[in-house]
Amino acid sequence: MDRAAALTEVFMNDLSQSDAEMPNFQQAVREVAQDVLTVEKNDPAWAAAKVLRRLAEPDRVISFGVTWMDDAGEVHVNRGWRVQASNAIGPYKGGLRFHPGVTLDDLRFLAFEQCFKNALTGLPLGGAKGGSDFDPNGRSDTEIMRFCQAFMAKLAPHIGPDLDVPAGDINVGPREIGYLFGAWSDRAGIYGGALTGKGLSYGGSEMRVEATGFGLIYFVQAMLARQGRDIEGHRVAVSGKGNVASHAARKALQAGAKVITLSDTSGTLYAPDGLTAEEITWVEDRKAAGDDLSNPPARFAASFREGEQPWIQEADIALPCATQNEIGEKAAQAIVDGGYAMLAEGANMPVTADALRVLRKGGVQYAPGKAANAGGVAVSGLEMSQMSHRRFMSAEEVDDALKTLMSDIHDRVAAEGQGDGTIDYARGANIAGYRRLARAITAQGVL
Ligand code: GLU
Repeated sequence: MDRAAALTEVFMNDLSQSDAEMPNFQQAVREVAQDVLTVEKNDPAWAAAKVLRRLAEPDRVISFGVTWMDDAGEVHVNRGWRVQASNAIGPYKGGLRFHPGVTLDDLRFLAFEQCFKNALTGLPLGGAKGGSDFDPNGRSDTEIMRFCQAFMAKLAPHIGPDLDVPAGDINVGPREIGYLFGAWSDRAGIYGGALTGKGLSYGGSEMRVEATGFGLIYFVQAMLARQGRDIEGHRVAVSGKGNVASHAARKALQAGAKVITLSDTSGTLYAPDGLTAEEITWVEDRKAAGDDLSNPPARFAASFREGEQPWIQEADIALPCATQNEIGEKAAQAIVDGGYAMLAEGANMPVTADALRVLRKGGVQYAPGKAANAGGVAVSGLEMSQMSHRRFMSAEEVDDALKTLMSDIHDRVAAEGQGDGTIDYARGANIAGYRRLARAITAQGVL
């Protein structure tokens, strides 16, 4: 066993016993520990401060019941959480996810990852994540509003513009953020930036909706530019049909790539010569209507492949933009066999640990979500400063700032991940994020 592996084993055994039941959290921590514990051990101050151990223990986990009434008058009870992981470099910051499958394990891993992602942006943003096991599918607008209000009734005392600033994540978009912001502002009695992803009419930023997907493509372009290549003409397979997937597809198309797939749990929409803008809009409309991707209009060249993942199609670049652990070993092998040169994560931790080993062995260059999908939270950071200034940027200004942010993140990560002729982006992201957090945590004393 090498030194990093030995340190990791000791470290994982030292985590709180109750975290043993959290496989996603364990996976995320282990992956970071393998890269950063040797760095920590080489710095006496960081080692003494036990920086990574402290990051693996959230500052607090808030758990609450959410009771709300549906349109028929029936009462429902859901569970809500907010995991405030670290505010060492800025107010707690991270999205809210509404999904029946959401567990505390998911939110613990996401909050942990968010600390590193937010550190990589270079902006003053701490790490947090939250959400609920509420299923928004099939719910009316008024039911969504009542749920958001009931959720915020419990969350409001714990958030604020300088305290904790939630945003959207899976199933939490502009509509939900509007209801959540209204409910927070009403309770707090002040108008301030306690949430991001807000509408333009009440303090939101241009380009926040597009930011994660566009930022992903800017990151891929930076990776390719380093190899003297361009995205134009490349075949890109995208999974997912949500906000990140559709905007990544749009930006890739704009940049001259062929986007051959979008997908959901029912199957894949496959266009061998690349999806058109109209086909991407159709996917967005289906998602908004709560429908799957089966039965595309006959005039489309794209066809629906029931039950298939995008990766069985040959392409150059894989962009998983759906959810965690969507790519297991079999899908990873398909990516290797399909001749893909690169995979960049639009979703958070879509690749399992075993699948990652397959990709590495197969020579697929891998960009982790904490770097590649940081554009969303980065523009959230810009939204916070615009709200404080009471002065808003144009879409062009935000887009330019996003391009700079993503290329800076790329360069920070590449500098740390530089190896023998290749760049290990996962290692680079873990170490670059860790260093920024370590400096701040050590400087602020033992708390
Ligand atoms: N949920 C997004 C993420 O995973 C955005 C978080 C935010 O804007 O605060 O980074």
